[in-house]
Amino acid sequence: MNQLNPLQKFFRQPKIFISLPSKGLYYEPGALQGDYSNVPIFAMSGMDEIIMKTPDALFTGEATAKVIESCCPYIKNAKHMPSIDIDALLVAIRIATFGDKMSVNKTCTKCGEENEYEIELGNILEYFSGLKFINTINVFENLIIKIRPLQYEEMNYFSIENFKLQKMLYQTNDIASEEEKQKQVDTIYKNLSELQVQLFLTAIETVQVDNTVVTEKAFIEEWLRNTERESYQQIKQKLEENKAVWDMPPQKVACGHCAAENQISVTLDQSSFFV
Ligand SMILES: [Zn+2]
Repeated sequence: MNQLNPLQKFFRQPKIFISLPSKGLYYEPGALQGDYSNVPIFAMSGMDEIIMKTPDALFTGEATAKVIESCCPYIKNAKHMPSIDIDALLVAIRIATFGDKMSVNKTCTKCGEENEYEIELGNILEYFSGLKFINTINVFENLIIKIRPLQYEEMNYFSIENFKLQKMLYQTNDIASEEEKQKQVDTIYKNLSELQVQLFLTAIETVQVDNTVVTEKAFIEEWLRNTERESYQQIKQKLEENKAVWDMPPQKVACGHCAAENQISVTLDQSSFFV
């Protein structure tokens, strides 16, 4: 079948072009092919829509990865892309598929009025395009760590494991024996803190103390496990601050009834993507 497909002119065309917030950094070799500052985004196909509506695939991030690769052909391997580009790409795909406006319902926190707002998704894209990933954290003056964003696959791993542990924690409420309950709660907390160490280790690339740069993961792990509480908290806080910057920016709206300012957090999960 070497001849040109006569249906080709009816294929999807790019709807918008975006610049990736990561500036094309932190991709595994081969995961991104093309100019990061001019990435074509296609609308979702009928197949994409079916994939996005498969609950299990969505939970693991499998569906999102497939749809990103389909609508953004420059991305060759979405699982190995930096997670900081995911939200911007999903917003871009939503714009390419359904347009710039997205309606969101929000009950006023002051008067209880149910309002419907039209969010302009282009503003969110603009927010992301102005960000820069800060990869250097000065924990203390003589202690500097270099971090990288988690890859999408890693991010999903940590959020699923965390979700499972939180669910187990919740289920301990059903345990009748107080002693048994405490035992299980202790184990779950231990696993949660272990998960956090693993997350830190994944994100931290190097640790610099005075003039020595340590890259060996085993040394970094030993240090993390033996460091003082204060440094540990400092790292945790800095990583969380960094993460918050890369979350979807909350949108300010005014209540139609009492004019109070409300904040809407836009999410692009399965339940909101198609609304
Ligand atoms: Zn109100």
